Amino acid sequence: MAEGPIGLLGGTFDPIHIGHLRLAEEARETLGLAELRLIPAGEPPHRGTPRCPGEHRLAMVRRAVADNPQLTVDDSEVHSDGPSYTVLTLERLRARLGPARPLVLILGADAFEGLPLWHRWEELFTLAHIAVANRPGYAPHGRRWPSVLSPELDAACQGRRLSHPDQLSAAPAGGLLPFDMTPLAISATHIRELLAQGHSARYLLPAPVLDYIAAHSLYS
Ligand code: ATP
Repeated sequence: MAEGPIGLLGGTFDPIHIGHLRLAEEARETLGLAELRLIPAGEPPHRGTPRCPGEHRLAMVRRAVADNPQLTVDDSEVHSDGPSYTVLTLERLRARLGPARPLVLILGADAFEGLPLWHRWEELFTLAHIAVANRPGYAPHGRRWPSVLSPELDAACQGRRLSHPDQLSAAPAGGLLPFDMTPLAISATHIRELLAQGHSARYLLPAPVLDYIAAHSLYS
């Protein structure tokens, strides 16, 4: 029997918050994923150095999903040297899981719009499907999305649009599926700002993550 698609959610997770967790949970459910792996970046290449070292960000992700067996954590990017290029992570997973297993790269709309800046980005479609969720400020909830893309991204997406999550199981890679999640205008940037100013970030991220931040005096 064919095994179900594996979802992959990469991020800086500096720190992980409820937006990431709802994205993971809703993607798992809406897309019918057999499993969803969160992959904290070691050295994210597309942005400045994270405020927190990888080991802390990894520890926070582990705490955030400790009570949910369907969300697992892949620590390979944190533990590998050099920039965390998604294409390399996908190649590594592909080599381990074989050519037939459907892989689904989960992205928020902001990350998807920036895809042409990623290392060897056009190859991502040869390694995985891409599923894109709305994010407040980037994609209108409930409207078909993506509506406006850069010409190069638009060209790369031609002929890839899937209309139903079942289609993710029909091929190992190559499809593009927009999906809606509960809109949550939460960002790690805002949480870092709140904490730096001594304000409460309670309820924007899981309590065990806040406890970890306090215990290690992060972001203050
Ligand atoms: P920062 O504010 O530091 O840039 P962030 O909150 O955007 O961080 P990332 O770790 O950069 O978080 O995001 C990882 C992935 O999660 C990306 O694909 C991003 O689009 C998605 N994501 C993050 N927050 C949300 C949200 N509130 N709604 C939907 N997607 C989100």
